[in-house]
Amino acid sequence: MQHLPMPMPMRTVCARDCYDSCGLLAVPDADGRLMIRGDKSHPVNQGGICAKCSIAYNGSYQNDALRLTMPLRRAGKKGQGKFKPISWDEALDEISSRLRNVLREEGPQAILNAHYTGTRGVLARDFPMRFFHAIGATEVSPDTICNIAGQLAAEYLYGSGLQGFDPREIADAACVVVWGCNPSVTGPHTHRHWLKSTDAPLVVVDPVKTDTARKADLHLQLRPGSDAMLAFAVLKVLKLQGGLATGFIAQHVMGWEDIDRQLDALSLDEAQQATGIGIAQIEQFARLYGAGPSLLWIGMGMTRQRWGGNAVRSILLLPAATGSIARAGAGFSFINGAGAHGVDLADVMGTHLRRNQAPSVSHMDLVERLRDSAASRALFCWNINIAATNPRQAALRRELARESLFTVVADLFMTDTADLADIVLPAASFLEHDDLVYSYFHMTLSAQVAVRSPPGLALPNQEIFRRLSRRMGFCDEALFEKDETILERITRGAQPGMGFEALKRTGTVMVSDKPLRQFAGAAFPTPSGMIEVRSSKAQKDGLPAVPSPRYDATLLEGEFRLLTPAGKWLSNSIFGNDPAIRRRYQETHVRLHPRDATRVQLPQGSMAMITSTEGTLTAQVVHDSGVLPQTAVMPKNGWAKLARGGGSSNQLTNACKSDMGEGSSVQSLVVRIAPAAPSSRTPQPSP
Ligand code: SF4
Repeated sequence: MQHLPMPMPMRTVCARDCYDSCGLLAVPDADGRLMIRGDKSHPVNQGGICAKCSIAYNGSYQNDALRLTMPLRRAGKKGQGKFKPISWDEALDEISSRLRNVLREEGPQAILNAHYTGTRGVLARDFPMRFFHAIGATEVSPDTICNIAGQLAAEYLYGSGLQGFDPREIADAACVVVWGCNPSVTGPHTHRHWLKSTDAPLVVVDPVKTDTARKADLHLQLRPGSDAMLAFAVLKVLKLQGGLATGFIAQHVMGWEDIDRQLDALSLDEAQQATGIGIAQIEQFARLYGAGPSLLWIGMGMTRQRWGGNAVRSILLLPAATGSIARAGAGFSFINGAGAHGVDLADVMGTHLRRNQAPSVSHMDLVERLRDSAASRALFCWNINIAATNPRQAALRRELARESLFTVVADLFMTDTADLADIVLPAASFLEHDDLVYSYFHMTLSAQVAVRSPPGLALPNQEIFRRLSRRMGFCDEALFEKDETILERITRGAQPGMGFEALKRTGTVMVSDKPLRQFAGAAFPTPSGMIEVRSSKAQKDGLPAVPSPRYDATLLEGEFRLLTPAGKWLSNSIFGNDPAIRRRYQETHVRLHPRDATRVQLPQGSMAMITSTEGTLTAQVVHDSGVLPQTAVMPKNGWAKLARGGGSSNQLTNACKSDMGEGSSVQSLVVRIAPAAPSSRTPQPSP
C-alpha cells in the first residue's frame, strides 16, 4: 500500500484585535480543508487557540457560502438587503466615477473614510490609507471609537502612549497590576500563561468580577467612574507611610507639588465612599505596589468614560511617584505600538502622499456629520462594521440609509453596515494573503502567511485600493507598490532585521533577545525630558494642567450604569455571524446584582426593558452576585440583524465624548431598567 506524504502544516498568525497575536498552524485534511489550530512553538499561546477563533477559522472563515465572493451593487432601497453581483470592472467604474463627481462638486473632504482593526496585518490595515491620503479624504478618526483618551493621557505624562513595558520584565516584577482590563477574554493566553509566569502578587482593579479578577491576590471592585480617586487614595497612603520615591520625583518628575497639594487635601474617608473600596484594601494595594518594582497594565475599555483621560493620567502617577518605571521589572503598558517593534507604519500608510493636514472627524460625531449631506457625499467603510460597533445605532442607521450618500463597504461577510451600502466589495481574510502582524502587548513580530486562496473574486484590502487608484487615474508609484516589496522593506527595517521571507520560515520572532527597557535611562520623550505630571501640552489642548481625583456622581434611585465590555465570543463585532458561535453567544442578556434585580422585579431569566437617552432594548436577565449594585453588564457589539432579542447594546449607547481626544465614553452610560411587557422584543432596527 502506498503511503501518501503527510501534508505539511503552514505557520501563520492570528490577525484579530487581541493582545495575544497567537501563532497558528494550518493543516490541510484529506478533503483539502484546513484545520486551523494553535502553534506550540509560539511564545504567547504555546499551542492554544481561543474557542471563538477555533470555531470561526474552521467554520465561517472557510465557508464560501457565507463569505462575500463577488462585488455587489444595491438593487433595492437602502437597507432592504437586495444586491446584484457585478464584475470588478463595473464596481471600480462606478466607484471612481461617483468619487470624481464628489471631488469636482464638493472637494475631497466630502469623502469619509471609516476603518479600524477588522484585520491587523499592516498591509490590509494600513496600505489603503495611501489611497485616502492621495485624495485628501476626511478620516473618521479611528482611535476615537476605542483608546484615544488613554493614549493621550500617557503621552501628556510620559511622552508616549504607544511604548509600554516589555512583558518579559515580569521575571523581575514584585507586583503586577491589571487595571480596567480583562485579559481572560481580550488576551486569553496572556491571562493563562503570562500572568501565571510569576509568583509576584496580582492586583486587579475592575468593577466587574472577571475571570482575571477571580485569579487575583487582591481584587479592587471599584465603583465605575472612580478610578482617578482610587489612584489618588493609593498615593495618599503611600505619602502617609513614607512610600513615595522622593529622590526619583525630584530628579524626573515635573509638577509633583501640584499633586502633593491635592494629596494633602484628600480625605481617605471620601475616597472610600467614592470608590466603594475599604481603606484597608487601599492600604494593601499601596503596600503591594509601593514595594515594587511593579508592572501596571491599563486596559482600553476603562478609558471609554466621560473622564477616562483624567482617570488614566491619575493612574499613571503611580509609576512616577514610586519610581516604578525605567528599571527592571517596572513600567506601565497601555499599547505597544508599531514603533515599539520598529515597524514603520508611516511608510505603509504613505503619509508622504498627504496633500495637506488630513481632515478628520470623531466617530462620536459621525451621525451629525452624515446628517450634513453636502459635507458627506461618499463613505468608505473597510476593516470596520460601524452599524454594529458605533454608538447611536438607530440614528446612525437612519443616516446610512440616506439615498444621496454613496457608501462603499469592503468586508468578508454581509455585515449590518454592508446591508446599507451601494457597492459591497469582497475582501480576502487574513488566511488568504501574506502580511505582517505585531502584538500590541507582547514584543512579537509574526509573518501572516496565505494558507488558502480567497473565495471567488475576493481580494485583499491593499489590492482593492491599488485597483481603485488605477481606475481613478492616479500615477504615484506608491499607490501601486507590491505587497512583497513593502513587506520585505518593513520587516528588514523592524527588529530583528530579518527579511519577510526569513520571517515566514520562522513564523514569530521576539524583537530583541533581552527585554527592552521602557524609557531606558529615564529618558522620557516629553518636551522637558521629565515625566510631566503638570503638562503645558495638556493645557494647550484645553485640559487641566494636572490630573485630579474627580469621580462620577452617585446614581439616582432606579438608575444603572451600563457597562458593555468585550465578551468571550466576539472580537469587536467579528464572528457575530458565525452560526456555531451564535448558538453559544447571547447578545442580549444583561447581568444584574440579584438584590437590584429583585427590587425592580426581574427574576432570573425574565425579560428586562433597558432604556437610555438613545433608545430601548429588551434583554434577558441573568442574576450575578459578582456585579456591583446599580451596575448592569452587557456584552458589546453583536450584530443587530442577527440578535435573537432583536438588538445589541449599541442601540443604547450615546456619543458623549471622553475628556480627551474626542473619544468614546460609552462606559459612562446611565440607563433605567424595568420589566418588559410580556413577549416584548426589541424591534429590529430599521433605517
Ligand atoms: S483572538 Fe486572540 S486568543 Fe484568539 S486566536 Fe486570535 S490572538 Fe489568539
